[in-house]
Amino acid sequence: MKKKNPFAVLTWQDLESWVGLKTLSRGKAYQKSSAVQDLAVAGKSRLIAWVQGTKRYATEVEIIGGEPNSGCTCPVGIECKHGVAVLLEYIEALKQNKEVPLINPEDPRLALLDDILEVDEEADDDIEDEYDPNSRMQEEKPQNQQSGSGRVDPEQRGSRAIQGACPIRP
Ligand SMILES: [Zn+2]
Repeated sequence: MKKKNPFAVLTWQDLESWVGLKTLSRGKAYQKSSAVQDLAVAGKSRLIAWVQGTKRYATEVEIIGGEPNSGCTCPVGIECKHGVAVLLEYIEALKQNKEVPLINPEDPRLALLDDILEVDEEADDDIEDEYDPNSRMQEEKPQNQQSGSGRVDPEQRGSRAIQGACPIRP
């Protein structure tokens, strides 16, 4: 007898309360466009896959206490659209009775994802791929360009008016 698959019992409502409607629909779009590659299972309640986004990310989804949790090498890191896409891809495979292979213990994605979960504090290193070396601080403009221009000194204006009012003295 097989235990019920923890992914198979998830409803759309479950997924919506997991990541919110926006991320859910983005993930769905990813899954539909075949962004999920080399889907594999790692145990009964964990999925691993590559997801092709701006870059190719290693993504995992794990059911803990009946609820999905995802980790990803993208800058978002957790509960991202890539995780949603992986989960939906797996549910799709279940529907179609497609075999999902067990992951090779030496699969590089396992190491990538371990790094993410354990070294959360240093996740900055993973944002490197979003960094654009051309967008440096060149745009900074001098702040004092405007000072002094366009202002009229009230005293000066006043003295001019007085001069104009009494042009000639007898
Ligand atoms: Zn992601």
